[in-house]
Amino acid sequence: MALMITDECINCDVCEPECPNGAISPGDEIYVIEPSLCTECVGHYDTPQCVEVCPVDCIPKDPKHAENHDELMAKYQRLNAAD
Ligand code: SF4
Ligand code: SF4
Repeated sequence: MALMITDECINCDVCEPECPNGAISPGDEIYVIEPSLCTECVGHYDTPQCVEVCPVDCIPKDPKHAENHDELMAKYQRLNAAD
């Protein structure tokens, strides 16, 4: 499942540089995650790095983008094959 940033985001900027996939960017009002780029950090780290650093815990799983571990790993491999 890709993750999503809720409106509790305080625009602290700390998550953006932690994302190994460049999936996080400043949106119009709060930071946003591009679901096609988010692997929940599968392939890079054991835990979602943005969740680790977010001071207000506003990054839950996005129920609109349900993916299991194998699908996330396949996404990681697709993204890295394109490098
Ligand atoms: Fe990026 Fe990982 Fe957060 Fe997804 S879970 S947005 S890949 S840091
Ligand atoms: Fe928003 Fe959390 Fe990212 Fe800070 S770390 S910009 S509060 S989502």
